[in-house]
Amino acid sequence: MLQPSTLRPDGQPTPLGVLGVLGGGQLGRMFVHAAQALGFRTAVLDPDPDSPAGHVSHLHLQAAYTDEAALAEMAQACDAVTTEFENVPAQALRVLAQHRPVAPSAQAVAVCQHRALEKAHFTACGVPCVPHARLETAADLDALLGAPGHDLFPAILKTSTLGYDGKGQVRVERQPDLAAAWASLREVPCLLEKRVALAAELSVVVARDAAGQVVHLPVQQNLHRDGILAVTVVPAPDVPAEVAAQAVQRAGTVAESLGYVGVLCVEFFLLKDGTLLANEMAPRPHNSGHYSIDACDLSQFDLQVRTTAGLPLVMPRQHSPAVMLNLLGDLWWAAGDALPVTPPWSEVLALPGTHLHLYGKAEPRRGRKMGHLTVTAATPAQARAVALQAVALLGLQAF
Ligand code: ADP
Ligand code: MG
Repeated sequence: MLQPSTLRPDGQPTPLGVLGVLGGGQLGRMFVHAAQALGFRTAVLDPDPDSPAGHVSHLHLQAAYTDEAALAEMAQACDAVTTEFENVPAQALRVLAQHRPVAPSAQAVAVCQHRALEKAHFTACGVPCVPHARLETAADLDALLGAPGHDLFPAILKTSTLGYDGKGQVRVERQPDLAAAWASLREVPCLLEKRVALAAELSVVVARDAAGQVVHLPVQQNLHRDGILAVTVVPAPDVPAEVAAQAVQRAGTVAESLGYVGVLCVEFFLLKDGTLLANEMAPRPHNSGHYSIDACDLSQFDLQVRTTAGLPLVMPRQHSPAVMLNLLGDLWWAAGDALPVTPPWSEVLALPGTHLHLYGKAEPRRGRKMGHLTVTAATPAQARAVALQAVALLGLQAF
């Protein structure tokens, strides 16, 4: 177990533990903030010299995730390592794991980074998911076209790897459109999913330690726009208590049967008839868990620090109802000007219970996650009312 900064009896600091993270995006940045609050030093591996986590870390190694010298340096510098994105090469995690504790494991990350493996894992542990079929070869295509009245349509075709924020997905209305849809994705390995009518989308963040103890954040209700998370509301307003309990139980089962150590987020679809289906999972903190920084006594990043360092896990408690709004680069272009315009932060911060998090990204591109705003309040209704005021100030769509 790593100890955060402490003083020896002679008053001298002991050498501080160093926690490393692969990936320097906003998730890495918030991990670094949480690690440093406990007195850890941090190291970030990310090739981008201008990465959000690199800006705030003690050490930033600017190299590719496959760079052997950089991985050796990372192993040398860190006492334990985690990751902030699933597309880090599994090999990098394996190399580091030869020298240092790594959580989550390469094997668990490999399952999460492949949609077909992920769905197979859900099914293997008895967690229902959307009807689907693999589309990886010409023979798969023939089989899917040959089956008359295939019940997967209307469908969504998703690339098996590297998709995020709705990227790498196309809608396929009818069976005869499938070949063209696959061609538009360059015929890479894909998963074809039945498109289901969603009553709500939920997610559950769980953390599991090496001893098998599992804790979780409350169930989050998520609204996506154009495949990108737009709003998260907790407590989830449209989720009956028994469905919430089912989601928590299933997320725990998924983590347990992976032998998972670390923070894991499972996304679910809730259908109109009350059916709960697992959608996908992320082997790391999740955008929908960001509210926990301001609304819970332990955030998802605190949990990641604890599972990485082998510190004790305790059940987080949400102390305030919360609404989180994602802030995309589009906000800077709302006025239609030729140059980006800074959104009215002062007016937003004048509202009670607003917590603005900006990730330090220089360039506000459309669709790029620039930050998030969490509104906390004494009641869910108040949090929603203030969030809607912020939405109006920022020119966002109401929810
Ligand atoms: P990503 O990795 O981009 O988050 P997801 O599979 O979660 O990919 O898809 C993004 C969003 O698209 C989901 O949150 C949901 O709103 C919608 N979506 C994805 N799959 C389906 C489906 N089978 N039926 C209905 N909506 C879906
Ligand atoms: Mg998703």
